[in-house]
Amino acid sequence: DLHRLIRRQRQMCIRDSLCPVLAVHYHQKYQRNEQHEYHQEKEYHLRPIPLDLSHFIISFREYEKYSRDFVALEHKLDALQTKPALTRDGVRITLLGNIEFPDEAQVVLEKGGEGIGLYRTEFLYLNRPNEPTEEEHYQAYAETVRVFRERPVVFRTVDLGADKYTQSRRWAPEPNPFLGLRSIRYCLKNLTMFKRQLRAILRASVLGQVKIMFPLITNIQELMQAKMILHDVMEDLDEESIRYNRDIEVGIMIETPSAALTASTLARDTDFFSIGTNDLTQYTLAVDRGNELVSTLYSAADPAVLRLIRMVTQDAHKAQIGLSVCGETASEPEYVMLLLGMGIRTLSLTPPMIPEIKQVIRSVTLEECHKLTRKVVGMNSERQISGYLRSAARKILPEAY
Ligand code: PEP
Ligand code: MG
Repeated sequence: DLHRLIRRQRQMCIRDSLCPVLAVHYHQKYQRNEQHEYHQEKEYHLRPIPLDLSHFIISFREYEKYSRDFVALEHKLDALQTKPALTRDGVRITLLGNIEFPDEAQVVLEKGGEGIGLYRTEFLYLNRPNEPTEEEHYQAYAETVRVFRERPVVFRTVDLGADKYTQSRRWAPEPNPFLGLRSIRYCLKNLTMFKRQLRAILRASVLGQVKIMFPLITNIQELMQAKMILHDVMEDLDEESIRYNRDIEVGIMIETPSAALTASTLARDTDFFSIGTNDLTQYTLAVDRGNELVSTLYSAADPAVLRLIRMVTQDAHKAQIGLSVCGETASEPEYVMLLLGMGIRTLSLTPPMIPEIKQVIRSVTLEECHKLTRKVVGMNSERQISGYLRSAARKILPEAY
């Protein structure tokens, strides 16, 4: 459990020096939903990952030892930065980074990432009383695209609502916000705001390999409507003689069971899928991803979640569209072999985890991944699957466990 906590800290981009007491502090603040203060702190990259923190009362000496071991491992793995993410039998895996701010792009590069698979653009909206202007959007996006030049940068359109609401909406909470007006639903009801962001993304698209991704799609109408609005914005830019990439790739996140179950239909109208396992797990298992009381149920290793991921992978392959996983599962060493074995070749990770995941990839063959996947597919319980995945990962990267 301690390993899990320390890894979580690193996934959250919380610096090495931070001790679990602080992690508890941040987590509790988050739980109390004090978003306003929370987002004013520098170290707030906390993704809502449920942890039962009562297990983590340890001595400082014990923490120091674990922390030292992890830092040593991190230094060792940083040497992999320029090495490719190749399996032992030569299969190339693409490792991208998940970011929230332009200055994190550099970290992705330093850690060996090959582009941005998920730019969480909603962070521009938080912690401020007014909406960002088109120019503010554009400047933030252009800065990132320039860092990556010809390498992909996937901008996810704003994913506001649920746990990430603007200052104005903070005072009008919905009774059931994760099932409410969030994400693409919110954008489709706030077209001026949505169009402003799309204009900025399109303007930045001439600077590199920019892609657009819509979050939380639940049905084909939403996708068609979002694409129609994108075309409207393109027409506006045409009229104003503003340049953009007309062939920009447009993808969607697969984060709801309905999207996973209708992936073959959605695939016809989209260039790529990115599986958001954080929300997909939450919605499949009906478990609030930020609620500690039910955190033991929250696991992507649940057979129901894995079945959906497999289905989406098969449908994406059949339709010959792009596919990646960008939820936290992709950043967990335990899941790498399974995802590869299912046929996933692109992972978008929290930047500090890129070297560790690359090390796992470089230590295995695809045949081993397939074998592991076949075994897992035959298992019935989350406990059995997660135990099996953990012991397989421990054999490959013992230093991390
Ligand atoms: C996800 O849901 O898996 C995801 C990547 O999006 P977010 O964590 O920002 O909701
Ligand atoms: Mg999500």
